[in-house]
Amino acid sequence: MTLPNAQPKASHFIDGDYVEDAAGTPIPVIYPATGETIATVHAATPAIVDRALESAVRAQAQWAATDPVERGRILRRAADLIRDRNRELSVLETLDTGKPLQETLVADATSGADALEYFGGLAADVTGTTMQFGGDWAYTLRKPLGVCVGIGAWNYPTQIACWKGAPALVTGNAMVFKPSETTPLCALKVAEILHEAGLPAGLFNVVQGMGEVGSALTTDARVAKVSLTGSVPTGRKVAAAASEGMKHVTMELGGKSPILVFDDANIDDAVSGAINGNFYSSGQVCSNGTRVFVQDGMFQDFLKRLKARIGAATIGDPMDEASNFGPMTTQAQMEIVLRHIQTARDEGAAVHGGQRLDRDGFWIEPTVLTDLTDDMTCVREEIFGPVMSVLSFATEEEALARANDTQFGLSAGVFTRDLARAHRVATAFEAGTVWINQYNLTPAGMPFGGSKASGIGRENARMAMDHYTEAQTIYVGMGPVEAAF
Ligand code: NDP
Repeated sequence: MTLPNAQPKASHFIDGDYVEDAAGTPIPVIYPATGETIATVHAATPAIVDRALESAVRAQAQWAATDPVERGRILRRAADLIRDRNRELSVLETLDTGKPLQETLVADATSGADALEYFGGLAADVTGTTMQFGGDWAYTLRKPLGVCVGIGAWNYPTQIACWKGAPALVTGNAMVFKPSETTPLCALKVAEILHEAGLPAGLFNVVQGMGEVGSALTTDARVAKVSLTGSVPTGRKVAAAASEGMKHVTMELGGKSPILVFDDANIDDAVSGAINGNFYSSGQVCSNGTRVFVQDGMFQDFLKRLKARIGAATIGDPMDEASNFGPMTTQAQMEIVLRHIQTARDEGAAVHGGQRLDRDGFWIEPTVLTDLTDDMTCVREEIFGPVMSVLSFATEEEALARANDTQFGLSAGVFTRDLARAHRVATAFEAGTVWINQYNLTPAGMPFGGSKASGIGRENARMAMDHYTEAQTIYVGMGPVEAAF
């Protein structure tokens, strides 16, 4: 497997151009479907990190003073370029992550383009409020924060770069983005396209590296905000480091989300929701509904239909558009998932699937675990792979209590035809994002993010623009100034 002609030209993208620095630790880029090394990038040295931050600081001041309509126009132009090149970007995303082309053609570059277009359209609509105090009054402005750092996970490298970059840029900030070391390629193309669309040099810089590069960015005094997509343990570290410098944070972290399926649900829709919420991207999705609670009356039928549908999955070459299930993105993640499956077996779970496939690359079968109790490891911990735990329940009250009994609070889903119950259950979930009779859809206009240990802040929608700006309050005195003496 070789990279397409449109591959990124060097490891980093700084001040409007590709930059190489072979002094940095080499990082192999591995195609997960075969295990082959398809490229090598170099981790950023301290000099590269410094250069990226310096150029961002320099560019941001003028960008903040640019007419917001012009800022939005550039983002919308970038969205058009991404859509024009969707196929080549999707192939790169598949090479970076191993996700089937059937998915990446519709869910990655296109989702990034949606965010650029959505925020581009809102550029001129960053408004404050006014307050009246007798004759005096006050008003607020929303001001950009300055230089923001984006740190990405490896499951959606293009989307994460755009979801962070678009709201940051449109509100007048600069961004330095560090992709996951395991999927370094796609964010470079996002930077290249943004600049081709007219973004001034320095406003979206990409530097590669492991945790220590992320840490250097997080603790730098020139940085005003850190937006991380990653695991809860990394989120704790990054938020703690950022708090030392009193920086703003957005934390998009992990989950162990519940899906409740009531007896009156449309069973095929519920099975589809559970499949989408567990096996899309081979289960490497933060918001996945990995604890599926099915009401007693439907439980057996649900399992029967689920297993039949899994048997119809097309597991194969991700570049073949007929394939709809791909490998894990890294060998390390495959090993973590296989260990989880073994632990589930050891703790008494019945395992449907669960085998590593006998081929090159990092492949695990779609897996369903049953005969479970809520205290088992597989029901409590995020696995981040194609492993669905299916449990039964009797009453709504019981199901809700069990669904909420977790440190996580990213997402939740409910399948029922009972309108009142759907909304009652949805609002009772302790979760940042809830789907009723649907799962895992994240349009750009909808806020997305977690509560409890799953995160702080929201991505997408207008709320994201609030997270990349801060209010300045201006009091206006209209009368004489009284003083005690
Ligand atoms: P990690 O937490 O391992 O890493 C996330 C990013 O943080 C990587 O770029 C990583 O670099 C970097 N990093 C690691 N340590 C530090 C540090 N001390 N300071 C700054 N940056 C650091 O997550 P994964 O990449 O393994 O992604 C999987 C996790 O992400 C899952 O828990 C998943 O649920 C969550 N996730 C959450 C989403 C959401 O929107 N809520 C969406 C997608 C995933 P490197 O990897 O190069 O070491």
